[in-house]
Amino acid sequence: MTLPRIHILALGGTIATAPDASGAMQMGLGADDLVAAVPLLARLADIRAETVSRVGSHSLSFDQIHALAQKIMSLDVDGVVVTQGTDTLEETSFLLDLLVERDIPVIVTAAMRNPALTSPDGPGNLLAAVRVACDGWVKVHAKALGVVVVMLDEIYAASDVLKIHPTRLNAFASPQTGPLAVLVEERVVPLSLPVRAPVEAARKRLGGAPEGREQPVALLWLGLDEPGYILEAMVDHRDQLGYRGVVVGAMGGGHVPERVASLVGQLAEIIPTVVSPRAGGGPLLRQTYGGPSSEIALRKAGLIWGGRLNPLKARVLLQTCLRAGLDRSAIAEVFDVFG
Ligand code: ASP
Repeated sequence: MTLPRIHILALGGTIATAPDASGAMQMGLGADDLVAAVPLLARLADIRAETVSRVGSHSLSFDQIHALAQKIMSLDVDGVVVTQGTDTLEETSFLLDLLVERDIPVIVTAAMRNPALTSPDGPGNLLAAVRVACDGWVKVHAKALGVVVVMLDEIYAASDVLKIHPTRLNAFASPQTGPLAVLVEERVVPLSLPVRAPVEAARKRLGGAPEGREQPVALLWLGLDEPGYILEAMVDHRDQLGYRGVVVGAMGGGHVPERVASLVGQLAEIIPTVVSPRAGGGPLLRQTYGGPSSEIALRKAGLIWGGRLNPLKARVLLQTCLRAGLDRSAIAEVFDVFG
């Protein structure tokens, strides 16, 4: 029986760390080391292992993930597993989901506990990711699933998964939708398929992997009684600051403190500015509250409505739209489909 060809691309992260002389964990392991730690993999798949980088995911760049997407597009294999750090996994997996168009499973996994600890989760997560990549239901629905994240025997849609805890083992969840499937014993048990229409519509507008240059997007998380000094600086010195877009982590259903409402409106006039729920995700309101800092006023003032994407994912999407050269109204249409 020929085994499925699964290509493992290792980027770095806790899963790939080893202790230095002082006992501090450093990036050290490559893809071959990760595979060697899980002998069972050879029974499941014809494994090809490739070390792409040895960096913490907190230091990955958009350019690196674009290059990774190109590589995934070019591989002649039956499935791809990316290993990386957990810190930005919710962003990188969503970016890959926007960029990679394949009808094979593409899976991202990582580890919360490093290899020097008792019961590290890296080997188990890698084994689970390869199992998922080889699974019949996943293969048949690969396109419908898009890029998925496998952590702690759960399978999540890239557009929904969030890192919800900095240290504990069960640090990942999809609060809006729940997991798409779970691994039990050696089986994948399907639970649901993701709603792909918004991602597919976005991908159509993006036109494949956008070639453009880096497009820095600022993320401004608004808190109680925010005085707006950073907003003021962005309005007055946009060119010096270099940002090409802004995501505002707004309160509730799409509100900002009244004292910064007009600044937010001014910002939207000069740079694509997306309102996204700081509550972590979920559709925003569109037509409930009145007053100068309400969703009705902000939408009239030209703010782009971020839909159900949380601010980190909205930032990834805005950055990708800008990189693809979309103008403000095309960007608004892309976000509109997200609710
Ligand atoms: N800082 C690490 C990283 O994201 C944490 C991890 O892998 O869990 O690379």
